[in-house]
Amino acid sequence: MGFDVHHIREQFPILKTTMHGKPLVYLDNGATTLKPKAVVDAIDHYYEEKTSNVHRGAYQLSSDATDLYEGARVKVRDFINARTENEVVFTKGATQALNLVAQSWGIHNLKAGDEILCSELEHHSSFLPWQYVARVTGATLKFIPLTEEGRITVENTKSVLTENTKVIAINYVSNVMGYIAPIKEIAALAHSVGAILTVDAAQALPHMKVDVQDLDCDFLSFSAHKMCGPTGTGVLYGKLDLLNVMEPIEFGGEMIDLVGDVTSTWKDAPYRFEAGTPVIAGAIGLGAAIDFIETVGYENIVAQELKLRQHAIAGMKEIDGLTIFNEGAETGIISFNVDGVHPHDMASIYDAEGICVRAGHHCAQPLMKWLCQPATVRASFYFYNTMEDVEAFLAATRQGKEFFSDVFF
Ligand code: PLP
Repeated sequence: MGFDVHHIREQFPILKTTMHGKPLVYLDNGATTLKPKAVVDAIDHYYEEKTSNVHRGAYQLSSDATDLYEGARVKVRDFINARTENEVVFTKGATQALNLVAQSWGIHNLKAGDEILCSELEHHSSFLPWQYVARVTGATLKFIPLTEEGRITVENTKSVLTENTKVIAINYVSNVMGYIAPIKEIAALAHSVGAILTVDAAQALPHMKVDVQDLDCDFLSFSAHKMCGPTGTGVLYGKLDLLNVMEPIEFGGEMIDLVGDVTSTWKDAPYRFEAGTPVIAGAIGLGAAIDFIETVGYENIVAQELKLRQHAIAGMKEIDGLTIFNEGAETGIISFNVDGVHPHDMASIYDAEGICVRAGHHCAQPLMKWLCQPATVRASFYFYNTMEDVEAFLAATRQGKEFFSDVFF
């Protein structure tokens, strides 16, 4: 069957709700996505019928829960084409995964004179862990200069790459601009000088097929909740030979091999990084989200997002006094401002119409500085949004523009 957005929407119970008496128009998918019933059901099934801890119970129920949890790891392996499920570490989100790489690999492998490349396009979760590593190790943090449009390119990466580069830490898709970075080519550049590439793919997995072997990145992090899965769950993919020589950053139950009075030894990856009771329900929910996304199909997801984005941009261009910061983006994000109106004021206008958008710095203050804006409004579309959603968004944009012109001018 072809892509039918109305059939898709029936699977998202929240889309039947209203906000301020208006149909809910959810355009904050960059922050988190809505959850289909299949994901909620998978989590409920675990809690209602399979609640028990994993890896430790010598009884059937625990073995069933372990099968569900480890089954989710295998799904992630296949989804991102990792070589083995042992390259898949469950975390509480992209932030924890990105920090894990910096805290474990970064702190133990870097020293004064080494260079870390990142960019002003990073989410704070991608950038701050390495700012901290630079401070404590004495390594130097350098920025890949962005193009005029605000993109990371191979050429610009080359311009700051040296024999001292040890890490490149960048995003795959920007959460503000929606641009896709040339990760495969940058992985090759990193390896040409013996550096590693760690990729923040939090905004990539919701929209595009990611094949870690094809990209040849060393680490890649993402969150379940941005791709129809539950909050509190994420993944760190890492090459096994790297993971197995990295020190854990959290210590506790289930990650040990042998515990002595003075020293102890750790299990191999991924378990050495999953201390304590892991994100069991979350991982199971992520597995269901992967099934859901695969059923919808990335080609349909992208086509729908871009159709909506194109229609929105065309409508926005007919409104005077709007600045769009990322007209050429390849994913469903539009970042913009209405001249003379604070983004938070615009967000209140949208909210009154039942429309959810994000306004603020989007956890990307270096990028706001680069854009010379204190904040922006961000509308981010996903495959369950409709042309009616876009029309509602455009009508509220016109309304906000007129309202604030009357108030202030
Ligand atoms: N990286 C990017 C590009 C993001 O958009 C986000 C979330 O907005 C994160 C990292 C952090 O993800 P989480 O808050 O799920 O850990």
